[in-house]
Amino acid sequence: MNLVTIGLTETVESNFQTLNTNDEMILGRVALEHKRMYRVWTEQSELLCEVSGRFSYNALNREDFPAVGDWVALKPRFEEGKGTILAILPRKSKFSRKSAGLTAEEQIVATNVDTVFLVNSLNEDLNLRRMERYLLLAWESGANPVIVLSKADLCQNLESKLAEVEAITMGGVPVIAISAETMSGFEKLAPFLQPGKTIALLGSSGVGKSTLTNRLLGEEKQVVQDIRMADDKGRHTTTHRELILLPNGSVLIDTPGMRELQLWESTDGLTETFSEIEELASSCRYRDCQHKNEPGCAIVRAIEEGVLAAERLVSYNKLQKELAFIERKADKRAQAEVKKHWKNINKQMKQRKSF
Ligand code: GDP
Ligand code: ZN
Repeated sequence: MNLVTIGLTETVESNFQTLNTNDEMILGRVALEHKRMYRVWTEQSELLCEVSGRFSYNALNREDFPAVGDWVALKPRFEEGKGTILAILPRKSKFSRKSAGLTAEEQIVATNVDTVFLVNSLNEDLNLRRMERYLLLAWESGANPVIVLSKADLCQNLESKLAEVEAITMGGVPVIAISAETMSGFEKLAPFLQPGKTIALLGSSGVGKSTLTNRLLGEEKQVVQDIRMADDKGRHTTTHRELILLPNGSVLIDTPGMRELQLWESTDGLTETFSEIEELASSCRYRDCQHKNEPGCAIVRAIEEGVLAAERLVSYNKLQKELAFIERKADKRAQAEVKKHWKNINKQMKQRKSF
């Protein structure tokens, strides 16, 4: 594989040369990560790599480990099809999110993206606030944003929609209307899809990201070679490369994490999911009732009377603790992640109850 085609730049190359003093290492780009195992594209072949013991020892945080899109220096063992990653070359850009849980840890979902297409659908009302948040996210990442307005074939008033978008971008960001149906506008995407350039897509579910990906892949649809790796429970999970070489020579990064970046923007439905608890809490005797053993606690009474499942209160308390902890860290994004996490658990619990 020609590394220049998949995005190798002079900067990466010279950083690598500085590291590779005794000429034992080769360069590669991470195409897939799964439980700290990495599929890495190199000039010669694709290798299954792990990080070295020393690398692991020095890596303090999750963000210190390789992510899809990273350029890495590795020691190859071609006969085995394996290799050991010794270092990550400096990242040009990175998309990350705060992972749910007690630590507001950064999780890198894609790196070294040149251009990110912020995809919004023209057949719905444009959510300009959301677009602004995506723009912010893109700029924070270091990648250049391009606003892609999809499904132009379903739009009657393109001019006025474009004017709305112009109002927030003020000419600072390219705005391109496309239709995957008529293929209109695709020629305007071409400048961002040059050989060696890396792109990524960001946008809510249903806006047409998969369709766009398929159109970009065109007839030469990549043979998606599924690989199977066992997770710790021995289950086999099927997955594919998340670094995709497009027929025109550019590289598309499509990781699940990239798709999940949309989540942090849609939260706040939390009180609804715990509505029965919040309602009960409002009739506790004390306003700051912790629902433990205070007199006149409506929640404890409801549990005793079998009206409320005790596990619902446990979940609720856990959530409150997590939120409080993260609030202290003033970390809005992590808070949103936690809410999302609990909303899912809630949903599952409710479904289970209805059996
Ligand atoms: P994703 O969730 O962002 O990956 O969205 P999909 O690519 O799955 O698209 C969601 C729906 O929109 C699908 O039914 C597509 O066929 C449809 N769609 C995508 N692009 C276009 C387009 O340009 N025109 C029209 N009319 N429909 C589209
Ligand atoms: Zn109470």
